[in-house]
Amino acid sequence: MTKLRYERPVIKTLNKGVSNKFGAQQGFIPHTHIDGLSVKELTKEYGSPLFVLSERTIRETYRQAKTAFTTRYPNVQFAWSYKTNYMNAVCNVFHQEGSWAEVVSIFEYEKAMRNGVPGDKIIFNGPDKTENDHRIAIENGSPIHIDHLDELYSLIELSEKVDKRPRVAIRINLDTGVPPMWDRFGFNYESGKAWDAINKIMHTDKMDLIGLHCHIGTFMLAAHAYKVAASKLADLALSIKKTFGHDIQYIDMGGGFASKNTLKGAYLSGSDISPTFDDYAENICTALLNAGFKTEELPLLILESGRSLIDDAGYLLGSVLANKRLSDGRRATILDFGVNLLFTSFWYEHIISPAQECSQYAEDAVLYGPLCMNIDVVRESVKLPPLNKGDQVVVHRVGAYNMTQWMQFIALRPKITMIDMEGKSHLVRDSEDLDYLMLPERMPEHLKDFEL
Ligand SMILES: *Cc1c(COP(=O)(O)O)cnc(C)c1O
Repeated sequence: MTKLRYERPVIKTLNKGVSNKFGAQQGFIPHTHIDGLSVKELTKEYGSPLFVLSERTIRETYRQAKTAFTTRYPNVQFAWSYKTNYMNAVCNVFHQEGSWAEVVSIFEYEKAMRNGVPGDKIIFNGPDKTENDHRIAIENGSPIHIDHLDELYSLIELSEKVDKRPRVAIRINLDTGVPPMWDRFGFNYESGKAWDAINKIMHTDKMDLIGLHCHIGTFMLAAHAYKVAASKLADLALSIKKTFGHDIQYIDMGGGFASKNTLKGAYLSGSDISPTFDDYAENICTALLNAGFKTEELPLLILESGRSLIDDAGYLLGSVLANKRLSDGRRATILDFGVNLLFTSFWYEHIISPAQECSQYAEDAVLYGPLCMNIDVVRESVKLPPLNKGDQVVVHRVGAYNMTQWMQFIALRPKITMIDMEGKSHLVRDSEDLDYLMLPERMPEHLKDFEL
């Protein structure tokens, strides 16, 4: 038997009762394995910090979401939101499952092309598309989602110069009754701007209006907001049918479904309050089915969910660099990853578990990253058992927006692995090194030499 490590005693007030306003006090369950692979072995093989993706969780989550919709609506298509996580391995898992691609920039567009997604299955969103970007999308038959009138006018101009008719949809913003209203993207529904844009497109007859799109927000905890949005888009589709005799091919409800993460300052944990895929599907599908379409004219329902499909499949493994006491007596633990890798720690209270056996005594701690920068805080206040230098931790639900929004500041980016369905790990992105970092740098001749 190994000798137990000494732990200094902690004196704390006892609260009577089972739970306080932060919910029930939980015991600490070490998270030692991911999909059957040991955390310690993974970091030994790939280094620390390390991002780990579970292919099994991605596929299972996707299938749950898909079933929620296909059991309620006859014609459903998912399109993977590249900006949420555009590691090619991740994208291809979604493409293997049948997802199209949804991109918001030309480089994401080209990534999808290189992954082998057919052009007509790449949805091109976003306010930033150049004439050349439009040209490429038109040539490939990709659905172009128009964001503003300037984009519409430049497409009309371009349509004279190309042989193919652009396939377009318009992005619509609308009031769902749930603040904040995202009105900076697309054309507004209530003020009639969306209908103006539709008329402009239909009367110019220079392009095919194939769809209507909205993306009402992100981390939407109110599932009924989607019901309002779907009804408004359906209403527009039916007006187009009535006025122009034209059938819209699809209604694209965007993304924004909440994952099970807990937002900062939230009273209850995300796993308790985030709506399920069934909740979202029920709202959207019911609204579309009740709108008044004939069965054979029901538009294809497209969904661009990002975070809710990938958050649970991502883990960040890291190590404790040091402990110290702050001047107010709180314990501070310094980890080898910070906001550079965990961008989402700015808005989530990520669950962090010890990766080894630990004591059940917990203490309030601040978790800092390794950056020499004051804002590098992973958790402002978290109850954790004492962690020692060299101990490891597992951060949960980091699959969305970290592997794309990470920043190369002070530290280089680490490796990413994916554990396959058989429990075997694969390197899917190598760590960066100095050569990689300096690749685009150029040194002017007169600055090459110096003497000190
Ligand atoms: C970001 C984005 C998504 C994905 O959003 P999630 O909140 O991650 O589901 C989908 N569609 C558009 C247009 C987006 O900008």
